[in-house]
Amino acid sequence: MHIKIATLSLALFAATGADVALASSCAHPETALGVSRVVEIDTSGGPMFGSATKREKEHDLLADNEVVLTFDDGPVPGVTTPILDTLDRYCTKATFFAVGEMALAHPAAMKDVIARGHTVGTHTWSHPNNLKRLSPEKAQDQIERGFAAVALGAGTGIAPFFRFPGLNDSDELLTYLQSRGIASFTVDVISNDSFTGSPQRIADRTLKLVTARRGGILLFHDLKRPTAKALPAILAGLKEKGFKVVHLRAKTNVVPLATLDAELQPLLAKAPANALVPVYGPIPPALTKEGLIPVETDVAPPARSRLPEPDGNQQAAKKP
Ligand SMILES: [Zn+2]
Repeated sequence: MHIKIATLSLALFAATGADVALASSCAHPETALGVSRVVEIDTSGGPMFGSATKREKEHDLLADNEVVLTFDDGPVPGVTTPILDTLDRYCTKATFFAVGEMALAHPAAMKDVIARGHTVGTHTWSHPNNLKRLSPEKAQDQIERGFAAVALGAGTGIAPFFRFPGLNDSDELLTYLQSRGIASFTVDVISNDSFTGSPQRIADRTLKLVTARRGGILLFHDLKRPTAKALPAILAGLKEKGFKVVHLRAKTNVVPLATLDAELQPLLAKAPANALVPVYGPIPPALTKEGLIPVETDVAPPARSRLPEPDGNQQAAKKP
């Protein structure tokens, strides 16, 4: 059995002038929700995280009372922007699983997500709700076109992080992602913001579930305004209840297929002229209450291999 190794390390950052830039966009860093630690993920083994799957997955990334904030389906300027403003106000960081078509339609918003120091992964090209219903070729094209388009819209490298639309994963597609060195993320807490228009209900449900579960990967969508309206109460509630935010980052950027890059360039050219995006310089280190994150390195268990065995056996690796 060929086992690939995924290595995670608690990221190590030295103090730089960039802290000042972050602090200035963060009115009260000492009392804000902030970021308690950064986890850097080596995606080369194609690891999978989050509990909402029947497939083999990695051990939980998070300790008790830690959360990861994630937003799917954007960017949408009228929604993503206020969400970014709220995240800035609470001095915290999230991961955005962007849709390819949306990133090409709204490249300025996509760039803004990157400029404000968040992590960007992808969520297919056009969000078919169940990739399993497509032919393997079409499903893989959805994945690849998504990465190529989001990277083009972002105008820079993005993380090899993927989330299945509708969380509809499959062993075959997870094997494909693993062959491409892409990590996949399901969720632990579903805010239900796709199904309710009430910011209060979104906030109440999220805080209730995250409390019951003592943390986890939280799923939101930067697609509808109620999510943006609910976010201040959610972040304030997380702070009040003592939850800590973990910021996920990738060790290396994804490498999009060059053929798709060339094919998608004309679509980007048709997008509205990019609005001015503030330049924040290098992505700043995360602030903690005490200041910078301590120097520390951690190694995660190996990713479970889904690649075919040399004898042609296609079974996914079993738990040891
Ligand atoms: Zn989605």
